[in-house]
Amino acid sequence: MASTFAGLDELVIAVSKGRILREALPLLAAAGIEPCEDPDVSRKLILETSKPNIKLVIIRAADVPTFVEYGAADVGIAGKDVLLEYEGNGYYEPLDLKIAACRLMLAGRGPVDNSSRRLRVATKYAATTRRYFAEKGVQIEIVKLYGSMELAPLVGLADYIVDLVDTGNTLKANGLIAMEHVRDVTSRLIVNKASMKIKHAQITGLIGSLAAVVA
Ligand code: AMP
Repeated sequence: MASTFAGLDELVIAVSKGRILREALPLLAAAGIEPCEDPDVSRKLILETSKPNIKLVIIRAADVPTFVEYGAADVGIAGKDVLLEYEGNGYYEPLDLKIAACRLMLAGRGPVDNSSRRLRVATKYAATTRRYFAEKGVQIEIVKLYGSMELAPLVGLADYIVDLVDTGNTLKANGLIAMEHVRDVTSRLIVNKASMKIKHAQITGLIGSLAAVVA
């Protein structure tokens, strides 16, 4: 299903709040798309842009793939960390926007002896963490958290965490060490499958403009 609330000549772009939005706005501006109101100030959930047929919705990162898969947005901008955890039926992922770059890392207070028991790993990224350890042939127990992962090894909730690391300052401030690199993460452009067919010219135009800006 393509976007049901946007007309056939309109595009709705869903963007993850926070760092991704901050880094996506200059890319969108370079492609000629600027919100008519400051997203940091406006309370509106749907923002008009300098292009009358393009609207932005600013939502939580984990909701972007859902909006795009179901066609509530034609296009989305979300981190690969979030996309790897998404369990839906899919969307196209035509472009690496190379923004909000960071690394998904395994971190802890130091090496832990796991000869007599399974390692316990706290993370928001359960599926990615499970895959990473399965590939290494290591059985672990996952403790699913929604935030402040760095606390888990400090209070004995887990041996390690898997979390996003940018400067490494958060790990350092909490006495944790980055131990293994799980994968690099950047934000991607994703596209609803039906929108790609029905709004082909507009969407390939948008992908082309953004690709030129990224390059
Ligand atoms: P840092 O202290 O710069 O290593 O940043 C680590 C903190 O920022 C952790 O709490 C991460 O979950 C969060 N973080 C780092 N990079 C990103 C990103 N690209 N998107 C969202 N959160 C991030």
